[in-house]
Amino acid sequence: MHLRKSRLLTPGPTPLLPSAVRAMAGADLHHRTRDFRAIYSGVIEDLHYFMGTANGIALFSSSGSGAMEAAISNLFSPGDKTIICSAGKFGERWVQIARAYGLQTVVLEKPYGQSVSVDQVDTALRENPDTQGVFVQATESSTGISHDVQAMARVVGGTDAILVVDAITGLGSSVLEIDVWGLDVVIGGSQKALMIPPGLAYCSVSEKALERAATAVNPYFYFDLRKHIDAGPNGDSPWTPASSLILGLADVLQFIREIGRDHLIQNAQMLARAARQAAQAIGLELFIRDAIPAGAVTAIRAPQGLDSSEIVQGYKDQFESIIANGQGSMKGQIFRFAHLGYFDFHDLFATIAELEIILHRLGVNLDFGAGVKAAQAVYLKGLTDEDGGAP
Ligand SMILES: *Cc1c(COP(=O)(O)O)cnc(C)c1O
Repeated sequence: MHLRKSRLLTPGPTPLLPSAVRAMAGADLHHRTRDFRAIYSGVIEDLHYFMGTANGIALFSSSGSGAMEAAISNLFSPGDKTIICSAGKFGERWVQIARAYGLQTVVLEKPYGQSVSVDQVDTALRENPDTQGVFVQATESSTGISHDVQAMARVVGGTDAILVVDAITGLGSSVLEIDVWGLDVVIGGSQKALMIPPGLAYCSVSEKALERAATAVNPYFYFDLRKHIDAGPNGDSPWTPASSLILGLADVLQFIREIGRDHLIQNAQMLARAARQAAQAIGLELFIRDAIPAGAVTAIRAPQGLDSSEIVQGYKDQFESIIANGQGSMKGQIFRFAHLGYFDFHDLFATIAELEIILHRLGVNLDFGAGVKAAQAVYLKGLTDEDGGAP
């Protein structure tokens, strides 16, 4: 008999920041008070720091998809032509939302595990000079790839179209310079790098994008970008906000200010590198092909002849940990674990050591400790790099 602590190793929801959990318990307050307004406006200000942008920010009480829908309903009209980069389940969600609002979609599709290239976007823009918007995932959480958003912004920037980036797992796990690169709309969610439960979505909107709201004619009411952007800095939200989550977010953003946003990103990137090295040292194959790997999540193929559901179940049964299966047709083929937000090397070492045990018990022949050793090497190299080369 072993004690088993429950742990979330999924690319959303992610482990909660303990001080934020305590902060959320103080929610017996009213949102139209001076105290709450101070907290709310502070959250908006700190979101500017976390996202690294001076663009207006809208904060919604919804999961991330709410802000994805808001970007489409507020900024586009039926019949508008859009180019959608689709390399996974979340790219497919862009297509579904766009079609629900009557937009024309030129879909640049890549097989799962690959990414849409800048050249594809460039060519599609030349072939469709009337394009109004380009949609992409910074990080496609269903496959573990990243898109070259910086280069895409360069080709979109020379046109009338706006670039709309689902950075729901990208923010806080990969470098995104919103203002420098010119990313028009950038969307995040609370249950990813922000270390609190699901229920908040936020997005930054450039002036070029917001101008479109004045003439766009799709219907919306609750998810009004302009209303939220205008009210936030005064400590107001148009409707009753999810106040307990706001209290938690205020605490998390303070924590991120203390460690620094760049360090939060480096942390995820280094854990991601260690996860990839470990998987390969065990003899496993990464799911991505010719693509930039995500800092948020690593997707790994199940060994030949093994259903990845058994690995997912192994984590649950033996260690009370939740990892993610593949989604859609990837189910049973791959498994995914995250390393964004409140995630550290202790978590990763354990995740890898457990993976070796689970695979061994499923009959996979492996060299015990090979994965852990590879992860340890990345950790030690990180220390050396920080010390400027000292052993
Ligand atoms: C989690 C996630 C979403 C949003 O999903 P919700 O369930 O609405 O929060 C969208 N895109 C990506 C890339 C995600 O990881």
